[in-house]
Parts: sequence; C-alpha cells; structure tokens
Amino acid sequence: MEHSPWPVVERRPDGTLTLEAGAGVTESVVRDLADGAVPPPPFTVWTLAPLPAVPPGERAITVDQTNHSVIAGEAMVVKWFPAPSRAPHPAPALLTHLAGFAGTATPYAVIFWEDVLVALVTAYLPGSRDGWEWCVDEAAAGRTGFATGIGRLAAELHAAMASPSATFPDPVRLPPPPAFAARAEGALREALSLTDGEDGEWLARHAGELLAELVPLASAGRTPLIHIHGDLHVGQILQWRDGYAVVDFDGNPTVAEAEVFQPAARDLAQLLTSLDHVGQVAVRRRSADPAATAAWVRAARTETETAYVNGLAHAGRADLLDRSLLRPFEVEQECRELIYAARHLPRWRYAPMGVLRGWFT
Ligand code: ADP
Ligand code: MG
Ligand code: MG
Repeated sequence: MEHSPWPVVERRPDGTLTLEAGAGVTESVVRDLADGAVPPPPFTVWTLAPLPAVPPGERAITVDQTNHSVIAGEAMVVKWFPAPSRAPHPAPALLTHLAGFAGTATPYAVIFWEDVLVALVTAYLPGSRDGWEWCVDEAAAGRTGFATGIGRLAAELHAAMASPSATFPDPVRLPPPPAFAARAEGALREALSLTDGEDGEWLARHAGELLAELVPLASAGRTPLIHIHGDLHVGQILQWRDGYAVVDFDGNPTVAEAEVFQPAARDLAQLLTSLDHVGQVAVRRRSADPAATAAWVRAARTETETAYVNGLAHAGRADLLDRSLLRPFEVEQECRELIYAARHLPRWRYAPMGVLRGWFT
C-alpha cells in the first residue's frame, strides 16, 4: 500500500535539516496517527495518549509564531518544526512529566525523523486567542481581571513541574547556584552588539546601570531549581472557551543549550515583563493612552504576581520563588527581547526599547 503524504525532510549541505509540510500533509498524518498506521521510515512516533478519529480538513494558524502550526479537523494542532534541530528538545520529556496537568492543551503525540524532533501533536483549544491579542484588548480597555487567572495558572504550572513523576523523580533540585550572573551579562553584551542606531547608543549609555541591576545574581544563594517553561510570555497563554492554557514548551529561543532546571523566578520575571510589552503594543498599535497604559501595566503586574505567590502558597510550594532574582532576570529578559528582535523580528525592537527607556527616564 502506498503511504499517504508525510512531510519532506531534507538535509542541507551544512548538515542542518529543513522540513516542509505541504497542503494536505497534516490532515493525512493525523489520520495515520488515529488509525495507528506505521509511520514511513525514518519517521517514528511517540504516543502520549491515543488519538481520537479526527474530522477531515486542515487550516494553518496565521498568528506570529516561530514554527508552523496547522489545525487538523478543528480538533488537533500539529506544530511542525520547519528547521528541526538536533539539539535535545525539552518538550517531549516535559509533556510526559506534565501528564494530567489541566492547564495546557492535551498532548497526544511526538513525531521524530531519525532521532530529531519534527512535530508535536496536541488538542486544539476551540476559540483560542493568544495574549498578543486577548491581553492587548484588556490593556486597551484598562481591565486587569485576567491577572488573577494567569498568575494562578503560572503557579499551577510550577507546582506541577515540582511534583515528582517517573520522568523527573527529583523535580526540585538544590545544587550550588549556576552561573546566573555570567549568563545575564552575556545577554547584555549580545544585546549591545546586535542593537544598532539610536537604540544601540541609548543602550550603550545605560549599560552601566543595567549591569548594576544584575549584581544580586552574583550573590544569589542556594535556590530551588525546577524544570521551568523557559519562554513564558503572554503569547504562550491562550484564552479559550474554558479559560486559560499555557502552551509552547520549546524553551527560550535566544538561549543555546539552556540548562532546563532554573529558578521559578525566571518564568515569573518573563511573564511580568511581557505585560510591559503588552502595554507597548497597546500604545503603538491601538493608540492606547500612554499614562493610562502605564497605570494598567503596574496594576496588571502586581495582580499577576500576587496571584502567582498565592497560588504557590496554596500548593504548599512558596519555597520555589526567590523574589530577589526577579528584577535581574527581568533585565536579562529585556536584553533577550532585543536579541530576538535583531535575529528574528526587527519590528519587535520598539517593545523592549520602550520598556528599557521607561525604566531610566
Ligand atoms: P511557536 O513555537 O511557533 O511559537 P506555539 O506552540 O506557541 O508555537 O503555537 C503558536 C500559536 O498557535 C499560538 O500562539 C496560538 O495562537 C496557536 N496555538 C498553539 N497551540 C494551540 C492549541 N492547542 N489550540 C489552539 N491554538 C493553538
Ligand atoms: Mg509560541
Ligand atoms: Mg516556541
């Protein structure tokens, strides 16, 4: 029997891979998975939950994204990795560890080509919009009621990360603190070298102040490390029919071979700075009033952090958060936003620059 189409994976002369999932491929792969068909070698599939039969049809997701997600039969999302990487990917182990966690899209299958991760298959969350849409609406309207929901969700995620499983029998680790300061200073140096023009000059003038903000990292005490999300911004939080869900366990795209066990404060810092970015987007794209938006950011941040802290306490895991790390991790994250903008999305630069300029005026 001839195989229905699967994606085309090619090896470039430099050894890197490309993946192309043409029209109809996602639908056909999901059908094969639901039928339990053997994938065409060298594809292999790791099943996390049995796939239900899915109605025909597919449509691509069109929001800003790093990879290429396609919805099959309004029931499953297949995230294809157009540039599959040989570096170990955190998602398969993490999704296995999180089995039963209700705050994400149910994972069904992981697809490999040889031993390289090429796709993740999760349940489609009907009516979902990511935070670059729903949260910008909230900012433009001056509403902060959502903050309790996302703060609690982040705390529940961390409590689940910190619960032992067969995958991570020791999910909370207390080694000597890794080189937090070196990593953050490296991000600042990279942001300085990649940011040109007036923004680059502004950054160079304020490099000393930014460096001073990183000082607490040098004396960070022993702090519990968990397998964090690694890229926890509002764009990874979907508002859908039944509430909020966190997706995208790829890790931070600007950190090569990141150690996945990190302080919980790293995720919280990124989530909080993303609210500042939402404020920047609301002012630039929605003509929201700058002063009212700044007040919205302050309130949304406070309420999110409070809900997170209460959520951790409720789960008996208040020990996971070392608040002294928050500010320096926020500074590092703003540098990483500049790195991301320079490498992948130049038109994003205004958002981190707006936040940074707001800090030192
Ligand atoms: P990327 O690594 O490309 O950023 P994400 O996992 O964040 O991939 O998904 C990209 C976008 O696809 C999300 O921002 C969201 O809009 C949409 N999306 C992802 N997963 C789902 C899902 N399970 N249900 C509905 N939409 C989703
Ligand atoms: Mg994403
Ligand atoms: Mg991603």
